[in-house]
Amino acid sequence: MTDTLTHSPEAHSGANAPLEKIALETYVPLAKPSLVGLSRAEISDRLGAIGVQPSQRKMRVQQLWHWIYVRGAQNFADMTSISKDMRSTLETHFTVARPEVVAEQISSDGTRKWLLRLPSGDSIEKAHEVECVYIPETDRGTLCVSSQVGCTLTCSFCHTGTQRLVRNLTAGEIVGQIMVARDRLNDWADRETPTGSRLVTNVVMMGMGEPLYNFEAVRDALLIVSDNEGIGISRRRITLSTSGVVPNIARTGDEIGVMLAISLHAVRDELRDELVPLNRKYPIAELLKACRDYPGSSNARRITFEYVMLKGVNDSLDDAKLLVKMLKGIHAKINLIPFNPWPGTRYECSDWDQIEKFSEYIFNAGYSSPVRTPRGRDILAACGQLKSETEKLSARERQALRAMAMTD
Ligand code: SAH
Ligand code: SF4
Repeated sequence: MTDTLTHSPEAHSGANAPLEKIALETYVPLAKPSLVGLSRAEISDRLGAIGVQPSQRKMRVQQLWHWIYVRGAQNFADMTSISKDMRSTLETHFTVARPEVVAEQISSDGTRKWLLRLPSGDSIEKAHEVECVYIPETDRGTLCVSSQVGCTLTCSFCHTGTQRLVRNLTAGEIVGQIMVARDRLNDWADRETPTGSRLVTNVVMMGMGEPLYNFEAVRDALLIVSDNEGIGISRRRITLSTSGVVPNIARTGDEIGVMLAISLHAVRDELRDELVPLNRKYPIAELLKACRDYPGSSNARRITFEYVMLKGVNDSLDDAKLLVKMLKGIHAKINLIPFNPWPGTRYECSDWDQIEKFSEYIFNAGYSSPVRTPRGRDILAACGQLKSETEKLSARERQALRAMAMTD
């Protein structure tokens, strides 16, 4: 089951790289499953299977939903509005477990990164790990959530893309990341704060993995996260970032309805083929057509185009001009991301004054063009630096990475 991926460092170096690595690891369900991540109908079915009468199920589902997603209960014993007998029956068959936190790091800028362990079969040695990052800002708190262990795609500037091991997360493991953040930040409904406001207000599917290659689980998870009788983060505050899995962009609009971000990074197919090899399957014109057709695309629901700034590669003013030209007619915002380096990468981040010139050109053409401030660099939590411990970096590699991140 392991080591079936064809990926190698050589294969990760540009135009000849494969679009995708092949095999996925499989998820083996636990003997005592967690109810986290199941829809109401699925919970109802599970209750039926343990003998809960049909007349009782709707009410029980409502109670469980409230305890799990509003109150953040971590076990059935705390669910005091449910009868004692029922609580112990539930305890016998299920859990409300979320991914286990194996490490928490807090950056000097307040960013927090959690390393989460996910079960894989019954052997702890085979456990998978993903990372999840919380980024506090003055007016919001954004959680960057992973959709896969690693990524099957091979973007040449992305550290996650070099990770060999890949598995799709389940809906429960995706929702579980938001629950872990709320647990660790003490951010559930009964949190005592002067304003009573939440800390985690926004979710971005920009962690490890390509969310549109794990469509069903991501969809089911985001429908739970945006359910207003539960976690209640509105769809307008959830952004899904894709490297351009064109057929699933329309499905995202129809079946999830969240904000869309596109990892564009290049304006010519030749270059994008190299940076984002998936472009060979779904070239720029097809990608932009899917964006034009994205439902609800309007000024209030602009599509974000992410553009990583790579020195001497995609950062000329000609690139900026072409970018503006090709986005005509799309309600767009362009997010410039300074490249975050990692050991072994052949790219460098563009010079700051070039990033400013690029941004200014786009801004003057009428587009919002914020430069994303790198956050949590000292704990390797910035974009593209996520790569779980599953494939351990040597101490020297870690040190090198930290030094690169801090000095650049
Ligand atoms: N797979 C999805 C979502 C995760 S990546 C996607 O590609 O859109 C989140 C963002 O970080 C993407 O825009 C990605 O291109 C960018 N990114 C990856 N590696 C980076 C790096 N080293 N420096 C800066 N941004 C990076
Ligand atoms: Fe995967 Fe996104 Fe990284 Fe590309 S940029 S390898 S799609 S995580």
